[in-house]
Amino acid sequence: MNYRHGFHAGNFADVHKHVTLSRILVHLGGKPAPFRVLDTHAGAGLYDLCSEEAGRTGEWRLGIGRLSAHAFAAEVAALLAPYLQAVAKVNPAQALGRYPGSPLVCRALMRPSDRLVACELHPAEAAELVKRLGRGRHAKAIAIDGWTALNAYVPPPERRGLVLIDPPYEESDEFERLAAALIRVRRKWPTGIYLAWYPIKDRAGPDGLAEKLSAAQIPKILRSELSVGRSREGRLEASGLLVVNPPWRLEAELSLLVPALVAAMQQGDGACARLDWLGRAG
Ligand code: SAM
Repeated sequence: MNYRHGFHAGNFADVHKHVTLSRILVHLGGKPAPFRVLDTHAGAGLYDLCSEEAGRTGEWRLGIGRLSAHAFAAEVAALLAPYLQAVAKVNPAQALGRYPGSPLVCRALMRPSDRLVACELHPAEAAELVKRLGRGRHAKAIAIDGWTALNAYVPPPERRGLVLIDPPYEESDEFERLAAALIRVRRKWPTGIYLAWYPIKDRAGPDGLAEKLSAAQIPKILRSELSVGRSREGRLEASGLLVVNPPWRLEAELSLLVPALVAAMQQGDGACARLDWLGRAG
């Protein structure tokens, strides 16, 4: 477990993931019944953008840094507002100095009646997460393997909610593991919303994942991919998200949002957005 999210927090891939996460949470909160979020690979919860780690890569400057300086069309700005409020909440002094990880984005957009369970296996990150979330009823950090948590905490008692699966992709079989886990957990809880993130370094992993899920005949999987185009040597250029059972307005929202994110964060030739449904032609 060498991966530390502090090097990458607030980069274009985090923006893509957290903007999408924020829209799902807004829709879940649109109905009065409480919901639950299970964040299987939660990270430390909060990241210092002035840290040595963040400074070494400078990735956040091309992600949230670009976004906060960009003038968006009014319709896009309205869709981004909940996400930007979550970022503002950890930056009360206005200047961008900290970035919220997925558990804090969730907490900012959940109501007191909703519940968050955030899992993190790395001891130092888990300790940091416990500090950030505390041990209250509303949000709980647990030092546990996220794949085990997926079996243990699904389906949640609320029967409404979201599972965020955001592993570090350090192991060569992580795409296969994600496919198998999604197929298994969705059988246990067919109506839950699942949001899974993946890096796009080549097409083998993402396409294999899509093929396995399509072959399992899981209906309603929306795929959103974003490339910032040719970036610095060796840096990630593209990220992908799968949303199983997306809220019905999410497709229309992402079709506006993701091209706008590409325009704000593009780094070179080939920057583009893709939005489609798995297992459907055209
Ligand atoms: N979801 C976070 C966010 O959006 O802010 C970022 C998570 S980062 C990509 C992946 C995290 O998973 C790392 O903090 C890593 O320590 C943790 N991790 C790695 N293997 C894990 C496992 N088996 N179970 C739970 N956490 C794990």
